[in-house]
Amino acid sequence: MKILVINAGSSSLKYQLYNMTEESVLASGRVERIGMDSSILTHEPADKPEVREVSEILDHVTAVKKVLDALLHPVHGVLQSMNEIEAVGHRIVHGGEVFKSSVLVNAEVKLEIRNLFDLAPLHNPAHMMGIVAVETNMPDVPQAVVFDTAFHQTMPNTSYLYPIPRVLYRRHKVRRYGFHGTSHQYVSEQGAKLLGVPLESLNMISCHIGNGASVTAIKDGKSFDTSMGMTPLEGLMMGTRSGDIDPAIVPYVMNKEELTMSEVNSMLNKHSGMLAISGLSSDMREVQEAIDEGDKNAKLAFDMYTYRMRKYIGAYAAAMNGFDVLIFTAGVGENSSILRKAVCDGLTFFGLELDDAKNAERSKEPRYISTESSRVKVLVVPTNEELLIARDTYKLVQANAKG
Ligand code: AMP
Repeated sequence: MKILVINAGSSSLKYQLYNMTEESVLASGRVERIGMDSSILTHEPADKPEVREVSEILDHVTAVKKVLDALLHPVHGVLQSMNEIEAVGHRIVHGGEVFKSSVLVNAEVKLEIRNLFDLAPLHNPAHMMGIVAVETNMPDVPQAVVFDTAFHQTMPNTSYLYPIPRVLYRRHKVRRYGFHGTSHQYVSEQGAKLLGVPLESLNMISCHIGNGASVTAIKDGKSFDTSMGMTPLEGLMMGTRSGDIDPAIVPYVMNKEELTMSEVNSMLNKHSGMLAISGLSSDMREVQEAIDEGDKNAKLAFDMYTYRMRKYIGAYAAAMNGFDVLIFTAGVGENSSILRKAVCDGLTFFGLELDDAKNAERSKEPRYISTESSRVKVLVVPTNEELLIARDTYKLVQANAKG
């Protein structure tokens, strides 16, 4: 069975075509600048050279048509017929409280996703455009939706409620939802597999550290608490996002600097975090290079970043009364041995001991980086949200076919 995975943004659309027999990627690519002049399609077939095509792509319907044309192209295509695509799986950022797992798309599901536009105004409308675009181009192909929030729906109310008037939860669903759920779920499953132990028997702390970053406490295999909140702004210090700050700073700064709500929002989301403290970059590689050259602000940004990670890990260790596994994933977590060392060297109290040689190795495979005798196992597990979306879509379509 071949499954197309789509991640639709407001002006972009990324795709991967999976052959589920071997879970291999046949082709991947992206359409950028949808609705602007000079839209770009970059198509990367697995065994052929990459193709780039600049054209006018006015909307998502045309973008999906372009993707299908590329997949079926006589030279750089990977399919003989569109009928080979048996299902399409979409990444959806916000599933609210309605979606506790992935589902097949129908009229009711589309309505529920629309009802969630308020909670994810930048993402869910774009995802919906992706769903409609597939429907238009491939009306008979089943579609599934996989939510970034769904994995965290197992959190108890002690984790997801905020200590503010409860009417705000009842009226407006103000609560912690958490994000990166697909990634936390994928790496926890892969981690348990690597350890050869049932997922349900483990307490894990999973660190998804990329441009956006979140930590999740996974108790008995289920999300128990997570650092991102009602929006992806809460929690860790990130590339450009502040993470946790005293909420009273917002009205204070608005008043002193005469800023509007949207200006403060933009400050906290786009001009804070590592970028603000280093005064240099939100990119961990550039911050590390600057540290090597003796830049004090870059060092401060890095130290604050790793200190805040350790605080969350410590809090979640207490929240679960101990943990067995610490996982690092995403761009920084998978690639920065320096960050992993800075975090782990401050956690020896928990019986966690890093193996410096293993930590320094580079690999695309899931692996241990703790010593043999370390009580807490430390793993690096490359994330693969698209594969989890493809797997969920496959399972749903098969279950539906069996009736
Ligand atoms: P992501 O959002 O998961 O794509 O991660 C992006 C982040 O990963 C950026 O801050 C990159 O600087 C960081 N990153 C990628 N490769 C490396 C590396 N080799 N060392 C340190 N950071 C890296």
